[in-house]
Amino acid sequence: MSGHDPRTAELEARLRAVRARVARACAAAGRPEGEVTLVVVTKTWPAADVARLAGLGVRDVGENRDQEAAAKAADCRGLGLRWHFVGRLQGNKARSVAGYCDVVHSLDRLRLVAPLDRGALAAGRTLDCLLQVSLDGDPARGGAPADGIPALADAVAGRQGLRLAGLMAVAPQGADPAAAFARLAGLSCDLVARHPGATALSAGMSADLEAAVAAGATHLRVGTAVMGSRPPLE
Ligand SMILES: *Cc1c(COP(=O)(O)O)cnc(C)c1O
Repeated sequence: MSGHDPRTAELEARLRAVRARVARACAAAGRPEGEVTLVVVTKTWPAADVARLAGLGVRDVGENRDQEAAAKAADCRGLGLRWHFVGRLQGNKARSVAGYCDVVHSLDRLRLVAPLDRGALAAGRTLDCLLQVSLDGDPARGGAPADGIPALADAVAGRQGLRLAGLMAVAPQGADPAAAFARLAGLSCDLVARHPGATALSAGMSADLEAAVAAGATHLRVGTAVMGSRPPLE
């Protein structure tokens, strides 16, 4: 493509490389590429970058802070994007997030369920919810303990504004991602046995997307590998 500004050309090259990694990982796992959704995590980057990504064919973008995400979603209205909330969700932000997001990946406690549901109903939308599981038991990094997932799943499934979509996890730091994602895949099987529609599996980031695809991930949350190193937060 010609006439691109330098930043668009940079994003295009990185996006092409990431898509090639995903394609190779799918081929190696014997999975069709259509099963895997690439969510480009645009946190800390401006709305202009989100618009550039939309122009490059990206349909799914991820954010981790309500204020920043709400502003960008408003700026990028009309670009046909699906907004994914991937960060720690504060109780007092849940209703707001449900107003502009299509998918929440980080539902990890019961008290988020009612405000998410109210926000979705007020916005006239159905919000896809992924339950975040903690694979290392470190509460600071978010996620419900694995034994808390069944109750959380039942609570989400009982809400009119929410759709229980599946599970999400971040591989523990310093651990073998393949082992972590294999455990997550087992928890996903348990969930699907009780909730047959909850087949989504959000796992894999810039450093470990191949291991996630091998373990059955349906959603990859990739930031740095597409956007570049994050600028420092103000
Ligand atoms: C930032 C973030 C990502 C993307 O991480 P990269 O390593 O930059 O690809 C994925 N998931 C969550 C929850 C994040 O906060």
